[in-house]
Amino acid sequence: MSKNLSELSGRKGLTNNLFEKIGDAAKESGTPSEERLNELSEEFLIGKASTYGTATFYDFTKPENKNKKAYICNGSACVCAGTQQNVKEILSKQFSENEIGHMTCLGRCYENSAFHYQGKNFSGQDILHFKKENLIQNDLLNYNVKSTTTPLLTIPYSGFENHYALLKKALNQTPDELLSEIKKSNLRGRGGAGFPMGFKWEACKNENNDTKFIICNADEGDPGAYSDRYLLEQRPHSVLFGMIIAGYITGAKWGVLYIRAEYPEAASIVQQAIDELKENNLLGKNIHHSNFNFDFKIIKAQGAYICGEETALINSIEGQRPEVRTRPPFPTQIGLFNRPTVVNNVETLAAVHSIIKNGGEEYAKLGTEKSKGTKLVCLDSFFNNPGIYEVEMGTPLSSVINELGGGFKIPVKAMQIGGPLGGIVPLEKINNLNIDFESFAKQGFLLGHASVVCIPTNFPMMKYLEHLFEFAAYESCGKCFPCRLGTKRGHELTQKALNENYKIDRALFADLLNTLQQGSLCAHGGGIPLPVKNALHYFNEELKMYFN
Ligand code: SF4
Repeated sequence: MSKNLSELSGRKGLTNNLFEKIGDAAKESGTPSEERLNELSEEFLIGKASTYGTATFYDFTKPENKNKKAYICNGSACVCAGTQQNVKEILSKQFSENEIGHMTCLGRCYENSAFHYQGKNFSGQDILHFKKENLIQNDLLNYNVKSTTTPLLTIPYSGFENHYALLKKALNQTPDELLSEIKKSNLRGRGGAGFPMGFKWEACKNENNDTKFIICNADEGDPGAYSDRYLLEQRPHSVLFGMIIAGYITGAKWGVLYIRAEYPEAASIVQQAIDELKENNLLGKNIHHSNFNFDFKIIKAQGAYICGEETALINSIEGQRPEVRTRPPFPTQIGLFNRPTVVNNVETLAAVHSIIKNGGEEYAKLGTEKSKGTKLVCLDSFFNNPGIYEVEMGTPLSSVINELGGGFKIPVKAMQIGGPLGGIVPLEKINNLNIDFESFAKQGFLLGHASVVCIPTNFPMMKYLEHLFEFAAYESCGKCFPCRLGTKRGHELTQKALNENYKIDRALFADLLNTLQQGSLCAHGGGIPLPVKNALHYFNEELKMYFN
């Protein structure tokens, strides 16, 4: 991380943003021209290597992808469903090989066959009628959404006036009073780490700085998880409300929504919601006569999974390569443009409305001792009832799978829960698990986003591991070599074992996994061994033929 680059990038403020300009420069020709990158270097007083380094990192700005027009989803759910070869064959009739690229993941895990064209996502039956001159899209909300508890996240939107009457009321309270409710709720981050949100907000509040930021991390691209997409598209005002309250409590004047390029519809829906707030004078200066100033800025991501990691995301907004930063200092101390910054996940922010409305204690009545509230669980297309389910923390996994999901459509041998770094859960473990952080950790898995991707019985486990390593290697930020090299070696070994008469040395492989786990700087390289180790443990019979 370069503090100088952060400072120089922030010199022009959020509204004149380097990363956004690099993205804009790529729009016409697919990648920014050298002249344009040089101009930006001069404008922001940074080296040419920096703008070049950024432009060559992202899927939507890098030169190798400049001719791509259609992108096929290669997320785990689509891969397991086996639908993407058909998508490719149909698209190949309308696009040349060179015009077809890949994206991970489009959040259409409930019906697969997902692809992206001209800023729009398609899935399910869309491919059968796809004509590039005449685009017809499915309804955005064509999946099940249901709650089995007091709905806090999936509660129907009560309309602008009602929803924001609570904001006007909240602004009559002090930041300390509101923070106390957040702390009483014991709400923990839903992005995977489960860090208590109240502590994060308090740490930022305690920093003495006139400029602070609230960032909504809407770039968590875990294949299988489309709950953030649901909230951004269907409940944008819940997310925005949470950010405004975060700003009021911490003293931040800006809320930045960093939204995945893979969710183009979400960005425009959130922008409409921001416009609505502006029209109703609930943004800007002295909101509701409270002396509180707040505004929003949407930054559209450009396709890099690692930006779901909070410090990589901060570097990205600054227009730097999205390399993970070492911590400490934490973002609440030195974050965006070197200023105190809170980074929260979409689902975490969306929970704030119910906490402010009903009080922290009421929220904490739901859930288990350490995992409070409710959680969205995403089920993929292998379930009879795929969709998003809001359940109380502590709900048995078996009831999610059998009662809500309606069981599996075809025989399944395992599920990867919690994204590509989440555990591979064999069916025999279903009855030992509840939807909460502790239950999963105790059994050697990870709740993460609580997305469920099924691995069907006829899908070779080694092929799944190869897919995971390929994903991890492609998405590594490259900062630390255990991950940069280790994920690549893992991919090579699994690929060789699958396709050649090659046996992997078990001791060498164990060494590789331990090095990744212990030597990686962040959870990307450090997390990929978990599902691999789960697979080796529970599917040894199937996998032993690949090892000596
Ligand atoms: S573990 Fe991987 S993604 Fe994380 S900092 Fe190291 S190279 Fe980057």
